[in-house]
Amino acid sequence: MLTECLGIPHISTGDMLRERIRQGAELAERMAAVMHSGALVRDEVVNKLVEERLSHPDAADGFVLDGYPRTLAQAQHLDQWLESRGVREVVIHLAVDYNVIIARLTGRRQCPRCGTLYNMASQPPSEDNLCDKDGVPLVIREDDSEPVIRERLDAYERQTRPVLEYYATARRRVVKVDGSNDPPEAVFRKICRALDKDDC
Ligand SMILES: [Zn+2]
Repeated sequence: MLTECLGIPHISTGDMLRERIRQGAELAERMAAVMHSGALVRDEVVNKLVEERLSHPDAADGFVLDGYPRTLAQAQHLDQWLESRGVREVVIHLAVDYNVIIARLTGRRQCPRCGTLYNMASQPPSEDNLCDKDGVPLVIREDDSEPVIRERLDAYERQTRPVLEYYATARRRVVKVDGSNDPPEAVFRKICRALDKDDC
């Protein structure tokens, strides 16, 4: 919704890493092992991947980064990149209660063909466990199983919480949006209001 409104690309490091893994390169195999264990992929690997993606022409007028920066080292790397190009950033902090996160992620299903995400609780497919778009049976992503989710939340506390503190200390623009209970449209409206984008 945000990228449509702003007319800029959505750059998700999770999608990029999964795409590489699907392509099956040797590096990707190592990353797959790390991702499936819930630990965070090494900074240099992700930094390279993002930098390469940001150099594509469609990102010249801006971009929405999703899942990045996730560590302090990544945030500092991104800062240098943005500063050297005179790009200003807004950090959107989607705050969600842990129990809500676990309930959401364990209900998440994905179409292995087209990548569409569903949620068995809040956004189920119209036919039992089949993708609405192509009828392919949905799967639970390996990184959405409950033990892996717990590990992801631990990794978040250890590595990503300091990123928020970093932006706060550096007096960057951080917009905190409560995403615990509202449907996606309402969360989107809150973000737009915070960005002074009322015309989306
Ligand atoms: Zn599909």
